[in-house]
Amino acid sequence: MPIYEFECEECGARFEELVAAGRAVACSQCGSERARRLYSTVSPPGRQPRGAAVRSDESRRREREAARQGRIAESRKRRAAGEKP
Ligand SMILES: [Zn+2]
Repeated sequence: MPIYEFECEECGARFEELVAAGRAVACSQCGSERARRLYSTVSPPGRQPRGAAVRSDESRRREREAARQGRIAESRKRRAAGEKP
């Protein structure tokens, strides 16, 4: 079953729900059944699939960079320790 994102027309709450096609969904906040299915399937509110891909690429790059910096700092520390008399 797909997970869809809904927006309640009563209170404006957004929530994700696992639903069979064509089933009505009640708002998780106020219980209203006037929840509207949003266009995109599961992703955090406001996120476009394309942007998400770009963002995850960027975060992967940042992780790699952080790991590299960590290794550099580590070897610098080791060198400094080794140079002590
Ligand atoms: Zn609601």
